[in-house]
Amino acid sequence: MNFKLIRNFAIISHIDHGKSTLSDRLMEETKTVSDREMTPQLLDSMGVEQAHGVTVKSRTVQNTYRAKDGQDYQLNLIDTPGHVDFNYEVTKSLSATDGVILLVDATQGVQAQTVANWRLAHELGLPILPVLNKIDAASAQIDESEEQIRQLDPALAERKIYHISAKTGLGIADLLEAIVHELPAPVGDENSPLKALVFDSEYDAFQGVIAQVRVIDGTLKKGAALQLMANGQKLLAKEVGIYRPNRVPVDELTAGEVGYVVTGIKDPKQVTVGDTLTSQNQPTKTALPGYQQSQPVVYAGIYPVDDYNALQEALQKLALNDTSLVLTDEQSEAMGPGFRAAFLGIFHLQIIKERLETEFGIEVVVTAPNVSYRVQVAQKGQDIQTVTVTNPTKFPDFDQILAVEEPVVKATIMTPSDSVNQLMKLADDYRGIFMDMGNQGDYVRLVYQMPLSEIAYDFFNQLKSLSHGYASFSTEAIGYQEADLVKVDVQVNYAQVDALAFVTHRSRVAEQTQQLVHELKMTIPRRLYPMPVQALVEGRVVARVDVPPLRKNAAVNGQARSISKKQALLRRQSANKRQAAQSDIELPQAVFNALLSLK
Ligand code: GDP
Ligand code: MG
Repeated sequence: MNFKLIRNFAIISHIDHGKSTLSDRLMEETKTVSDREMTPQLLDSMGVEQAHGVTVKSRTVQNTYRAKDGQDYQLNLIDTPGHVDFNYEVTKSLSATDGVILLVDATQGVQAQTVANWRLAHELGLPILPVLNKIDAASAQIDESEEQIRQLDPALAERKIYHISAKTGLGIADLLEAIVHELPAPVGDENSPLKALVFDSEYDAFQGVIAQVRVIDGTLKKGAALQLMANGQKLLAKEVGIYRPNRVPVDELTAGEVGYVVTGIKDPKQVTVGDTLTSQNQPTKTALPGYQQSQPVVYAGIYPVDDYNALQEALQKLALNDTSLVLTDEQSEAMGPGFRAAFLGIFHLQIIKERLETEFGIEVVVTAPNVSYRVQVAQKGQDIQTVTVTNPTKFPDFDQILAVEEPVVKATIMTPSDSVNQLMKLADDYRGIFMDMGNQGDYVRLVYQMPLSEIAYDFFNQLKSLSHGYASFSTEAIGYQEADLVKVDVQVNYAQVDALAFVTHRSRVAEQTQQLVHELKMTIPRRLYPMPVQALVEGRVVARVDVPPLRKNAAVNGQARSISKKQALLRRQSANKRQAAQSDIELPQAVFNALLSLK
């Protein structure tokens, strides 16, 4: 393929600004997908994507477009996720492209993830094609949105901003011409040794690991003897192909092209995204820079409701497709064997839980998530040590702790001015430290330093509801900072339940533990005997309630029995309570949800 006729580009935007819908229109307009096959957000093929209307996994599609100059161009489009939790996916995709379409919903204007995604593209030096979407909508604010785009990136000040409706198809024909004329062709050398970037991978039960590649130099031929540079893994290109959007085999991929290689490798760990693929006979001299491993944000325990082995298998399969999901074994006294998993955020966690349920039919219990902590401990006669804790049950004993540090982020909130006061109060309540404030078009930009643990859970929902859906936010990691954090232990019927322990700020203890024990009173399955539920901090009980006993036999059938029989039954029931084993406590998902709902 003549690489002057290739365009590799990604579509980036804030969530819901219309990337997947635009991908649909581009595939339709270029006849990659026939009218008959077309369904809305066609690339969102995973069950969870359809359920949430959100793209989780980037997808690649090759389209052929006959431009007005009469030439056939190969347009390789990569649809990316917009949710903050999946920024890592966006970064991977961008490294395989030569330019981006920055898509902005004209009814909403520039939002926090528009800025965050723009920054990713800008830092990679990628040319940007600005596009306003949803101009068909009655509430479209075209001039204001254009102004915001120009303020975001001064390089776009003089540029034409394209106006489209991805829904109706308006402006798509012009946009296709703009892609050809305003985005660059790839640069590379067809005659150099093969150098290809593995920018993603998927796992096929029959074919093993399928690597998604962008060929930088040389040619990738079917049947070629190849090698991955990072670990020296050798492989044979069993099949080479392109996505349209399903896999279509081809004989070769040349410099500048994007496609896939069936590697025949069965162990997914052997193929890391970011690695460089080259030929065995004539290897390239230098590897591509590769990727940084994604940084986990939250951790949680995942336990099977019934079959441990099925869960293990399913999680391993999910981890293949999602390198940001990191798993270790975990053993809980209350829950038995399970896994500790690291996630990019709460939404990522929720998506994994749903995929386990819908794609694998596995019911799981997920414990309340937590961030990582750095704890300085001093044990008798030993030097001071710093330990990183990602599981509250492993939190050191309080009498050994010298200091605790938690991760903090710089949070940028964009909001219409009428919600500013409420949002500043919200940030305050979530232990935010005010840093900066400014105007961006009609929006106000608030910058806070915030503990990651505060925003990892329901901050986003609060932000949305207080601003009636208009505010958005993005975060950047800053590092760790000391905070007065303590571990809360939970006992049910005087037995410590390890899986319910959590870490919180001392100022929150009183309120949260009260709330928790009352929530647990409602959610812990009742027994024939009353069960005390208590929360402890540093060995002291700080909150307590009793889960009332079940007395259904006596109470429900009371009328049919004589008073004395009923009393005898109640006596028997209360005798039973003393025999009950303390450890035998059921912990359904609702119990952990109680922990999640703590303010
Ligand atoms: P993504 O998250 O950026 O991939 O956004 P989607 O493509 O999933 O679109 C989000 C929502 O916006 C969907 O309900 C679309 O139907 C709607 N949408 C997308 N493009 C347009 C448009 O041009 N006009 C209107 N009115 N709605 C649109
Ligand atoms: Mg999408």
